[in-house]
Amino acid sequence: MIRQTVGRPKVSVVRSAPFASRLIQWQLVYGRHSLPWQGTRDPYAIWISEIMLQQTQVSTVIPYYERFMAAFPNVASLASVSVEEVLTLWSGLGYYSRGRNLHRAACMLMEQYNGMFPRDVAALQQLPGIGRSTAAAIAAFAFGERCTILDGNVKRILARYFGVNRYPGEKITEERLWHLAEGLLPVGEDHETMTSYTQALMDLGALICVRTQPCCQYCPLQADCNAYQNDLTAILPVPRPRKILPVKEIVHLILLNQGQVLLKKRQASGIWGGLWCFPEITVDQDGIDYCKKNLYLRATKLTELPHLKHTFTHFKLIIRPQLLQSVMHQPVCEESSRKDDCLWLTIEEALQQAIPAPVKKLLLMTQPVLQSCIHE
Ligand code: SF4
Repeated sequence: MIRQTVGRPKVSVVRSAPFASRLIQWQLVYGRHSLPWQGTRDPYAIWISEIMLQQTQVSTVIPYYERFMAAFPNVASLASVSVEEVLTLWSGLGYYSRGRNLHRAACMLMEQYNGMFPRDVAALQQLPGIGRSTAAAIAAFAFGERCTILDGNVKRILARYFGVNRYPGEKITEERLWHLAEGLLPVGEDHETMTSYTQALMDLGALICVRTQPCCQYCPLQADCNAYQNDLTAILPVPRPRKILPVKEIVHLILLNQGQVLLKKRQASGIWGGLWCFPEITVDQDGIDYCKKNLYLRATKLTELPHLKHTFTHFKLIIRPQLLQSVMHQPVCEESSRKDDCLWLTIEEALQQAIPAPVKKLLLMTQPVLQSCIHE
């Protein structure tokens, strides 16, 4: 996808035309026109796609988007289900707060706007999980509002085009980029133009002005791009200042019994909030003792599985999985059974729950062990 224009003739645009005109002209010929969320003015469909596309590649998003839209085709259907059902469909896509915020925002839209979307960027930004750039994308695509997006890709384009030699994530630089982006908008244009222009910015960032080795020879902005003209494309945008992420280690207890594993629902807040995981303890705690005191289960330790690493935005997590055989089967945790937050499931059933990616990996690692236990 990224190199789709390579091999095509170099783009022919009027070099002196305004920035927006050049981009629109380029997009009509070389941009993307058949993504599942294109060709609609339905703000709901645009919203879902925009949220899914945050931090996630198009090819990963497509099957999730299609499943999600089939299950929840509009605001009312999304608001009518539990957040648990939303997270189950979100499972594996990562950044789960996005799924929780979608559900909260759908409920707010039902309560405050009778299931409709406000047109106004400021009102859209009041909804959970919708930032300034996402609000602008919804307003431009759905309502033809004259407003600019400024996601990571657009920041990269503008940092190169204007030769901005500061890290774009820095507050003051970000404000400058918003100001520059607003100055580039097409003047007094219609809905169609705003759609093409917004899509053009997205497509240029995804297909041409990519992070490494941008395809400047195919770029409609080449003639007056500061980075290209000054041979700075390899060093702009200025990267995020290096920060060493703290490392946190935890233990996941994989309890087995009668061909099933125990999953425990996490609290709504914090990492993987509301998702199903293995019971978690610190590296200093004793797993068998924890099972006895907190889950009211007698267990014996079988083995340790290889460590798993997972990186969050602010820290690195090392998971030390411990495999235990539970002697009793019932999830007799008094508190847990009351809250219905412990489940014994087969691996296949567990894989269908709202689980984070590392738990999915651990379940797949556990599958052969569980099968051998059954056959013993
Ligand atoms: S000329 Fe190159 S660096 Fe400049 S905007 Fe185009 S692709 Fe990006």
